Amino acid sequence: MIITIFGPPGSGKGTQSILLIAKYNLQLISIGDLLRNIISSGSELGKKIKNTVESGNLIQDEVICELLRSQLACVDDNFLLDGFPRNLNQAHFLTQVLRERYNKDVDIVIELQLDGEVAIKRLKDRLVCLDCKSVYSASSFKSGNNFVCTKCKSTRLERRVDDSDLSAINKRMSEYHIQIKDLREYYKDKLLTINANLSVVQVKQEIENKISCNLV
Ligand code: ADP
Repeated sequence: MIITIFGPPGSGKGTQSILLIAKYNLQLISIGDLLRNIISSGSELGKKIKNTVESGNLIQDEVICELLRSQLACVDDNFLLDGFPRNLNQAHFLTQVLRERYNKDVDIVIELQLDGEVAIKRLKDRLVCLDCKSVYSASSFKSGNNFVCTKCKSTRLERRVDDSDLSAINKRMSEYHIQIKDLREYYKDKLLTINANLSVVQVKQEIENKISCNLV
C-alpha cells in the first residue's frame, strides 16, 4: 500500500505518520526529516538548502524529486510519504516514478484539515527530539521539570528553526493553502479528508476508520 499525507504545518502529519506506519506495517519517507538531516550533516547540499528550509520556503522541485527517487530505491511498494508531493509538478513526477518502478499509483491520500489558530498555537508549543524525532508539546511537561524524550531519554528537545519564526510559519501556511487546491483536485478519487483539530487518538481513529472503509 502506498499512502501520502497532506496537512498544513502543525496538523500532526509527522505524529500520525508514525502511528500509521506501525499500524499498516509501512516504511516511512519523511521529506522534512530527510532535509533536516541533510542540513545537520553540513554537506554541500545541506549548506545550499539550509536558508530556504529555515525561512519556510520550498526547495526546488528538481532537488526534491531526485531526493525522492533515491529514497524509493530503498523501499518496496509499502510506504507512507510525508511531505511529498507539495505541488502539482511533484504529483505528476510521483505518478510517473511510481508507474516506472511499481507499475501502480498512490493508493490513499490523507488530507489533515486544521484551523489556522490551532496550527499557530501548536507550532509555538512544538518541541522535537533531535535524536529520535519524536514530537512533544512544551506545555505537556510539568513546569520545573527538564524536557526529556520519553522514547529515547534524550534531553536534546528543541524547537524547529522554522517554527521559531512567525514569518517562516506564515510562509509555509500560505504556500500550503495555495498548493493544496490543485493536489485535492488531482487526487480527488483517493482523498480521505480528516478533521485534525481533534486529539491525536481521535484523529488516528478517524484515519483508520476511513482507510478501512476505503479498502473494502
Ligand atoms: P511542515 O509541513 O511543518 O512545514 P516539513 O517537516 O514537512 O514541515 O517540511 C519542512 C520544510 O522542508 C518545508 O518548509 C520546505 O522547506 C521543505 N520541504 C519539505 N517537503 C518539501 C517538498 N516536497 N518540496 C519542497 N520543499 C519541501
